[in-house]
Amino acid sequence: MKMKATAILCIFAGILLLAACGNSAAAEEYAREQERIQLQQEHEAKEAEEARRLAAELEALERELEEARLEAERLEAELLEAERAIIRDEILAEARWLARGYFYEEALALLNEDQYLINDETKALEIEILQMIDNLVLFEDEIRHIFFHSLVLYPEHLFPNINIPTGGINEGFIFQREFIRMLPQLLERGYVLYSVHDIWSRDEYGNMQQHPIYLPPGKRPLILSIDDPTFHYGIGLANRMIIDEDGRLATEVITPERETIITHDGDIQLILNDFVREHPEFSFRGHRGIIAATGFMGIFGHDLLTEESIAEAVAVVEYLKNTGWLFANHSYTHNRVGFWGPNSNPNNIRRDVAQWRARIEPVVGPTNIFIAPFGFTLRGEGLQVVLDNGYDLYFNVDFRQPVTVYPTHVLAGRIEIGGYALVRWRDILNRDFFNVDEVMDAHRPPIISP
Ligand SMILES: [Zn+2]
Repeated sequence: MKMKATAILCIFAGILLLAACGNSAAAEEYAREQERIQLQQEHEAKEAEEARRLAAELEALERELEEARLEAERLEAELLEAERAIIRDEILAEARWLARGYFYEEALALLNEDQYLINDETKALEIEILQMIDNLVLFEDEIRHIFFHSLVLYPEHLFPNINIPTGGINEGFIFQREFIRMLPQLLERGYVLYSVHDIWSRDEYGNMQQHPIYLPPGKRPLILSIDDPTFHYGIGLANRMIIDEDGRLATEVITPERETIITHDGDIQLILNDFVREHPEFSFRGHRGIIAATGFMGIFGHDLLTEESIAEAVAVVEYLKNTGWLFANHSYTHNRVGFWGPNSNPNNIRRDVAQWRARIEPVVGPTNIFIAPFGFTLRGEGLQVVLDNGYDLYFNVDFRQPVTVYPTHVLAGRIEIGGYALVRWRDILNRDFFNVDEVMDAHRPPIISP
């Protein structure tokens, strides 16, 4: 019994011991766990702080980025506005130029083309142009038509002795320096180069009609034409009209010293183009004048006998058309006897017109303008041939420049500006166009014709 009790006691003590031993290991484990947790918490706190720091840094960077973005936007807007200001200035200048040349609708359209460019300045110009349109007046006076031949470039060469009365070129032609002196006077007198197509056309019944002409107060239309651009006049006048290496209209001139030079003022077309570029108000909607082409000697110094020659002539024609020039039939033969003179034979007229249409029309294009050689006024069958070929604007020569509108065609006169007119039509020129004394050159011989 005692043995049994001792054994039980021993077992109990063992259990206690074991229990005590077990308790001590758990405590250690607990402490380690606590330390680990603390370390973990410390680590987490550090990480959280690091995260906060990074977040703050990120936020600062984002703020900086946003500021940079706003600055970039501001600069871009500024740049855009600067670009717009440049474009607006160009548009304002272009619109003013268009309005000066009577392109009112085009100027208004340009000012309103881009809504972002509209500002007080464009609105002010728009009002100014609308005012110009309001101020246009109906022109009710007579329509003037002046015509020229090619310009004399070297009068001293052509007329070595100005005391000898001289006909021909002296009577029919104008000197280059006279033409240059004439233009500002024509401008000052209110003349505006006007297209015959803007004056006369057919109405809905097929009858010829004259359109009302509206221009600013003090302005008046002027029809200008140039006859016989053959350029076969020899030294003293331009030798050829060409397109130069830079694609510009040019004149090839042979000087009295027999040197071939390229110039840009060797005939009326070039001088007038430059003048209109400077003074758009001298031209109604870009129009210049009419070039009355014959056939038998080609055109502008190009004989039209080879493909190359035709191509050169066509290039000149295209350039001129693009700068506001029209072309007219001035007959193929320019022959007075039996054709364009007192004993005119309708069969000759028929042949002449057919030749012009076959050889010259392919170069200058179709036209309804007929400028009669020698100003000869065809009647009867001969006139009918011309009308049947579609020429319903017929111009002769008459210093009073009358205009008659028939149902079938318009017959209108022109006044020649040359040495003869400077003397014989002096009063008319003084009254209507320019001061003859200021224009006429000192190097003009007397004329022969009565
Ligand atoms: Zn002629």
